[in-house]
Amino acid sequence: MNGRLRHHACGSTSHDVASMFHGAPRERRRFPSGVFLYDGGDGRRVLFDTGYATGRWRTGWRGAVYRRLLPPQVDDEDDVASRLRQDGVDPASVTHVVLSHLHPDHVGGVRRFPGATFVVSEGLQRTLTASTLRSGVLPGLLPAWFDRATKRVLRDDEFSPRTVHGVEVAAVDLFDDGSYLVMDLPGHADGHVGALVEGRVLLAGDAAWGRDLLPEVQRLRAVPRAVQFDADAYLRTAHTVSLLADAGVRVVCSHDPVRETDLLT
Ligand SMILES: [Zn+2]
Repeated sequence: MNGRLRHHACGSTSHDVASMFHGAPRERRRFPSGVFLYDGGDGRRVLFDTGYATGRWRTGWRGAVYRRLLPPQVDDEDDVASRLRQDGVDPASVTHVVLSHLHPDHVGGVRRFPGATFVVSEGLQRTLTASTLRSGVLPGLLPAWFDRATKRVLRDDEFSPRTVHGVEVAAVDLFDDGSYLVMDLPGHADGHVGALVEGRVLLAGDAAWGRDLLPEVQRLRAVPRAVQFDADAYLRTAHTVSLLADAGVRVVCSHDPVRETDLLT
């Protein structure tokens, strides 16, 4: 396997790390919203998440509350379609879009991929059909056609146990060739998933706000704890991801400030 995995930042937000974890120093940090394009070199182009939406959000009062809590910083050039084009990739050539979960900083660019197959977990589907305020979903961000989009829904019972570098995980081998494992990383949102690319790079989504913050997750304060779908599972997931990092897997969280663009080199 020698595909390419490219990272792009599609907007960012910032907040104080001390408000998230007990004992953390006061530090206002910028958290970019990463998207990750895996090019298998054989026509498969698999995008992991889509970043923030540019332009005006038509998301009503829920959107106003969200923007007050986590103010997005988004310019037109942060649009996922622009980022891909700047990198020489036609957005229409993206064959699959894997969504880690439905939060606004991950689904803002869904509208740019009407021809792709969306890979979603059963938990994500559940959230779509019965979204509550607590689920953090802003319905206006998803295009009207998303209900009818081509989807591969990964059922809960499709995630089979497997061992990765000695660590027990549950995953779906998306193309049955080991190149792209969609991994169950429960806790942050119902059906939250990551992706292990070519066995080497784990796109960990929102398993933590940042790779270096994985150990801090165990000291999560009450408010950030309360917004997790399942806080106990979130803590267990952070531990599992830490074990994978210790075993040599390159872990990249969605909001890590990744400096290089190529992640498989
Ligand atoms: Zn999230």
